[in-house]
Amino acid sequence: MDKKMEMIEISGVEGGGQLLRTALALSLCTGTAFEMQHIRAKRKRPGLMRQHLTAVGAAAQIGRAYVEGAQLGATTLRFVPGQVQPGRYRFSIGTAGSASLVLQTVLPALWSCAAPSEVTVEGGTHNPLAPSADFLAECYLPALRRFGVDTAFALQRHGFYPAGGGSVQLRVAPGAALREAVFDRRDPAPKLEATALLASLPDLIGQRELQVLADQFKLGPGALHLRRAPTAQSQANVLMLRVSGEGQHTELFDALGERGVGAEQVAAGLARRVSEYLNSEAAVSEHLSDQLLLPMALAGGGEFTTAFVSEHLSSNARLIEKFLPVEIDWTQQSKRCWRVTVRS
Ligand code: ATP
Repeated sequence: MDKKMEMIEISGVEGGGQLLRTALALSLCTGTAFEMQHIRAKRKRPGLMRQHLTAVGAAAQIGRAYVEGAQLGATTLRFVPGQVQPGRYRFSIGTAGSASLVLQTVLPALWSCAAPSEVTVEGGTHNPLAPSADFLAECYLPALRRFGVDTAFALQRHGFYPAGGGSVQLRVAPGAALREAVFDRRDPAPKLEATALLASLPDLIGQRELQVLADQFKLGPGALHLRRAPTAQSQANVLMLRVSGEGQHTELFDALGERGVGAEQVAAGLARRVSEYLNSEAAVSEHLSDQLLLPMALAGGGEFTTAFVSEHLSSNARLIEKFLPVEIDWTQQSKRCWRVTVRS
């Protein structure tokens, strides 16, 4: 069947917004239409939320798409892509919803265009359960560079729940010739650096958090950073730990401070996740693992090791296989190390 006439039927029941974003990205990249039903069906508030609607709108605008069902709370969406247009775009979520997730939706369609693009998204820059702007800058976009994707990212304004008001901008170089990439190297003695980001909260909160990480990971004062977000419209605290090393990609782990949760508790939770990563033989963190599948599949292959196969990873893999002629498999190598392969 002609690609343009084909309509892929997808059930969103086994996943969240990520399935929708992957479908949008691949629909634009392949020119294939899709209909997704039961969008976010098992979530507390099922259907499309503001952040998802902004991603649909952004994809539709960039891909000159015909869309049916793009309404708040809708659980069925039809998306028929047209010709992707590179250029200068600005999208506003209107809430503190994650700006990073909107950027990730449209980026793959733009990197193979014949002309450069510049995309600005206004919304939240540091959200629970989403890649932060720092994660994009330190981990995700540098990882994409290994596939041949060239971008320049700027965090223009911090935005936190509930006010939002943040802004991120991504410049995308045209004509990426994607190549396969492998992420399975671990530096046995990686460099760790911790940053506490604070908006309208006392420095002491960040200092207490950094002290916990310094004690646990034997970090000297040069590896501890206190950063302020003076223009943010809401109070916020984000604790981040960056793991980098010779031959390996950079990982960024984060935790958001919450009212009623002590600084030491926030830091201890983050320290536990980082220790789990460091004590495994796997190279790629849980979050980066599901985000690597899409560029790997578009590049036609690649592999990585990760500590476990998350639901995000498996559901995303099965969806990608509907759009692209790839097989995504995983085999267990040791108790906490799986090798994920993408083959065309
Ligand atoms: P839903 O509310 O339906 O779960 P959603 O659109 O908020 O949907 P998910 O489908 O859960 O999002 O996808 C979230 C994405 O954010 C995944 O790719 C996940 O790996 C990533 N992610 C979550 N937390 C982090 C984090 N701390 N750092 C980096 N990436 C993260």
